[in-house]
Amino acid sequence: MYLNKDIVKEGNQILRNQSARVGVPLTTADFNCLKGLYEYVVISSMDDLVKQYNIRPGVGIAAPQVGINKRMFAMNAVDFLDENQTRYLFAILNPVITYKSKEMTYLPGGEGCLSVDRPTDNLVTPRHYAITAKCAIYDFNINKIKNVTLKLEGYPAIVFQHEYDHLDGILFTDKLFKTEELDPNIFPLFEESEE
Ligand code: ZN
Repeated sequence: MYLNKDIVKEGNQILRNQSARVGVPLTTADFNCLKGLYEYVVISSMDDLVKQYNIRPGVGIAAPQVGINKRMFAMNAVDFLDENQTRYLFAILNPVITYKSKEMTYLPGGEGCLSVDRPTDNLVTPRHYAITAKCAIYDFNINKIKNVTLKLEGYPAIVFQHEYDHLDGILFTDKLFKTEELDPNIFPLFEESEE
């Protein structure tokens, strides 16, 4: 279980490195890292445990953020359920984005990051509205790795792209824009992009 003290902050070179592919089967160290990331996003969605562990809650956390330059992250797009009631909670290994929609989107209030403690003044980060990614996901219920193709849209796609960027040494603060700078033809507002 990772705690606040384990989170690497903006300014540290580890967040800027290109991360390496994870070997499968996982080493014990890689397994423990991935499990810790997964636990972090699960606990983040439980208010009583957030208080108990005194963590800053996050919907995603990538291995470089705990000091490990490996291509893995966990995400938990809390409060977002699609029409099939799918819960977007994943422990992800070696993701490759194979499709990005031309249509773009952004979180209207701007993004946040466990590694960034300063306010970003409502500047927004452009993301592809829809993506397809090939990756391995670790299923902790059965302790198995499955190769999957994830098709994501809207909020889960935004979370995925934020975490994916961490694996390439990119922070959301590298991509900050005023909403009026964005081309309205390719940037429908997030709330309106479901229609
Ligand atoms: Zn982040």
